[in-house]
Amino acid sequence: MTQKSNLKAYQTRRNFKQTPEPKGKIKKITSTKLKFVIQKHRARSLHYDVRLEIDGVLVSWAVPKGPSLNPREKRLAIRTENHPLEYARFEGVIPKGEYGAGPVMIWDRGAYKNIKQKNGLLISMRTCLKNGQIEVFLYGKKLKGAFALIKTCNKESDQWLLIKMRDEHANARRNPVNTMNKSVKSGLTMDQIKKRYQRT
Ligand code: MN
Repeated sequence: MTQKSNLKAYQTRRNFKQTPEPKGKIKKITSTKLKFVIQKHRARSLHYDVRLEIDGVLVSWAVPKGPSLNPREKRLAIRTENHPLEYARFEGVIPKGEYGAGPVMIWDRGAYKNIKQKNGLLISMRTCLKNGQIEVFLYGKKLKGAFALIKTCNKESDQWLLIKMRDEHANARRNPVNTMNKSVKSGLTMDQIKKRYQRT
């Protein structure tokens, strides 16, 4: 995929005169510290958009149930269009009639580290994405620890599974999706975000 086409689907789906979302450009890679964000998004149905910085854009998956800390729970993750890096700062309401209309919360964010190795060597995120086997360590405010994103065998669809890897941060009893329902950016709930940003 060329750099230019990395954001084409994102930009053609949106009318930037109407939506407050960023138009986006592809960032030149200047640091090795990569960012991730998880946005809680109440569009037609509620889901969590998990986004990882790869090659200057946010590679994205919609996870209907959100992440689990239980390694036994595999969460369906549907790959969606790449988003621009600035999108990691977006919290607000996508207006009615626009693509993905509804409130968006920055549910968690932070840095991440690629931990996928073969024979003691790190495999690049670009290759991991292509192979459908990603392993990352998240340094979020809510989520910490190793998570895997594994593409399922169905080659026709872009379905993946988000799975907590076994480490000291795995915890089958905690359920952050239910218990931590406020923005890490503003402290607001979804309803408060809707009230604050909804155009009348
Ligand atoms: Mn979404």
